[in-house]
Amino acid sequence: MIAADLSFNREKLLEKISSAMSAKRFRHVLGVEEAALELARQYGCDEKKASLAALLHDYAKEVEDQVFLDLIDQHQLGEDLKVWGNNVWHGMVGVYKIKQDFGVQDQEILQAIERHTVGAAQMTLLDKVLYVADYIEPNRDFPGVDEARRLAKVSLEKAVAYETAHTVAHLATKGIPIYPQTIETYNAYVGYVNK
Ligand code: GDP
Ligand code: FE
Ligand code: FE
Repeated sequence: MIAADLSFNREKLLEKISSAMSAKRFRHVLGVEEAALELARQYGCDEKKASLAALLHDYAKEVEDQVFLDLIDQHQLGEDLKVWGNNVWHGMVGVYKIKQDFGVQDQEILQAIERHTVGAAQMTLLDKVLYVADYIEPNRDFPGVDEARRLAKVSLEKAVAYETAHTVAHLATKGIPIYPQTIETYNAYVGYVNK
């Protein structure tokens, strides 16, 4: 139980996380923690929770598909989820593996990780901090990232709206199926774009 409560052993935690992924992805994870802490300070979110959620958010990204399919059966998450693939599973289903491997019990942290890719119509402060931090962390480099960083300083909701609109547009342009919860997030936050 490395992180059963919030007083986790940072060294052990980082060792376990880094051994589950490439060096590049681990760099991303540390960047997300940095961005999440900055947002947490600005918006008054629990920094310890922001830190742990960020460090664990992509833990399941390099896990084999069969592990997710077994977890979907084990936790009766529904056959519908089986068609989606790693991009949707590593958060939505990955959260069960994180619970298992680290002993994390904090529901707010687990929910933020569960929602970090697809969002939700009603996100908590921690959900938004992780969702946005994942998008704007210092190692990210794509057209629009600077605007996302600017918006994140103005309003977390505007940043969520911008990120979701861009993700939806990106997926649609490439002909990739969009998970229904991503559309729900888009509809719930699109109003913030021009507010
Ligand atoms: P990462 O894990 O740090 O790379 O970032 P995310 O977890 O936010 O996203 C992982 C991948 O999932 C990205 O390529 C997104 O474009 C993609 N993605 C986000 N939303 C959806 C969705 O609704 N459907 C599908 N198929 N992919 C999505
Ligand atoms: Fe992710
Ligand atoms: Fe990520």
